[in-house]
Amino acid sequence: MKAAYIEQNGDLDALQVGDVADPKPARDEVVIEVKAAALNHLDIWVRKGRPGLELCFPHVLGSDAMGTVVALGSEVDTVEVGQEVVVDPGLSCGVCEFCLRGEQSECLHYGIVGMSRPGTFAERVSVPATNLHPSPSHLTPSEAAALPLAYLTAWRMLMTRGQLKASDTVLIHGIGGGVALAGLQLARLAGAEVIVTSSSDEKLQRAAKLGASATINYSNNPNVAVAVKDLTGGRGVDLVLDSVGAATWPINFGAIRRGGRIVHCGVTSGASAQVDISALYWNHVTILGSTMGSREEFRQMVRAVGSSKLKPAVDSVVSLNDARTAMGRMEHGEQFGKIVLDIKGKFADTVSA
Ligand SMILES: [Zn+2]
Repeated sequence: MKAAYIEQNGDLDALQVGDVADPKPARDEVVIEVKAAALNHLDIWVRKGRPGLELCFPHVLGSDAMGTVVALGSEVDTVEVGQEVVVDPGLSCGVCEFCLRGEQSECLHYGIVGMSRPGTFAERVSVPATNLHPSPSHLTPSEAAALPLAYLTAWRMLMTRGQLKASDTVLIHGIGGGVALAGLQLARLAGAEVIVTSSSDEKLQRAAKLGASATINYSNNPNVAVAVKDLTGGRGVDLVLDSVGAATWPINFGAIRRGGRIVHCGVTSGASAQVDISALYWNHVTILGSTMGSREEFRQMVRAVGSSKLKPAVDSVVSLNDARTAMGRMEHGEQFGKIVLDIKGKFADTVSA
């Protein structure tokens, strides 16, 4: 089958498109014929390689997928051939104390499709049957494929870790990235006000159309914390959603209100930062980490998207053959929303976003 894969860790040119072996489902797994698969920054980390991450080459990248069930493992009776599904990319053992509590993303053996096992940038992928959810019926395949990782991550950050309230004002850095845009849409869905930042006026205008109440261009207004305080009458925001890391860490302490919450899920600008501990305790600030989400959070997110008819922000839909160009676009931060691979080249013209 055709797939986008790597034979070794490396730069962008390590990504190849060609033939790899078809997946065979284990007893508890299901083979999906992938219609659409979305890119995530995780794909870049996996391609480059990380300490402790051992891949079996050729390794197919990709965590997000929407597709059709085409084969069942011998013990699977929870889904049927022909069902249209989205894949929850979180992999957990199911038996540790955290899994038994329903906190699968805290599992001792937690993994992600496309990192811990072959991914979704392929004509077919095998995943555990428990990872499948019906695809929301109002979404095109590319919109549905845009959901899993980014919207699950943003959902847990806002709703579970951040304890978002409708009365909150949220600051989201670097609008345009998948988690940032998912955060904007989901926070608006919950009734909160959202302030967004970017270096691109075009991205800020598009974010305003998606419901951002205020925008800050940090290239001509570099003191983002002061700008946030001005926008909030000197008060500061209740919640910060941060997938940027080192570059935005110091801004957060100047932009948060007393008693506010800062939730981190990524480090696209670097992972090391210093903290002024006095700013932390004097202002009663809570710093929270968050990765992916549980099965229940995935279910809640898909249900909220379905009942509100929310349309995920899709930047572009490109053919699997152009996977390398697509990954380059994401690596340069040029996108506004999810970049989606059209695996069969059949539905690009049906995308509405
Ligand atoms: Zn577990």
